Amino acid sequence: MKKRCVFCDIVSGKSPCYLVEESRLSVCILDINPLQRGHCLVIPKRHIKFWYEMSEEETSDLYNLARRVSLRLMKKYKADFITQYARGRRIPHTHIFLIPTFSKDPLDRYFNALEGFQEGARYLSKLGEKRVFREVLKEIKDG
Ligand SMILES: [Zn+2]
Repeated sequence: MKKRCVFCDIVSGKSPCYLVEESRLSVCILDINPLQRGHCLVIPKRHIKFWYEMSEEETSDLYNLARRVSLRLMKKYKADFITQYARGRRIPHTHIFLIPTFSKDPLDRYFNALEGFQEGARYLSKLGEKRVFREVLKEIKDG
């Protein structure tokens, strides 16, 4: 039996949502477990596990919707910026998080801690060597 997808149910209208805006290939809804006032999710209408699996057309549609909503969130909430990230592990239908972020709020503290970890972890320091940067460029530039 196929497991139901909460976001496919929202897109098809089987489940209710707080719809912010809909575009041809995407929807923007309020997250029902917000980290901040105005926390939105932008979701492709097609069931896609990870954001990089979207077509170019879907990517353009989704990120343009995300940009429009982010500009409205900035205007309304006067946030420092809108944090944007994508996952797809817990709910296997990709969703872009748009979260108004203020200095020292929980999300800002979380990312500051992550960046502190990134900059301070000894085992990560080798990743910052020039030799490794050259290797990585070679690995990912030409596919
Ligand atoms: Zn789905």
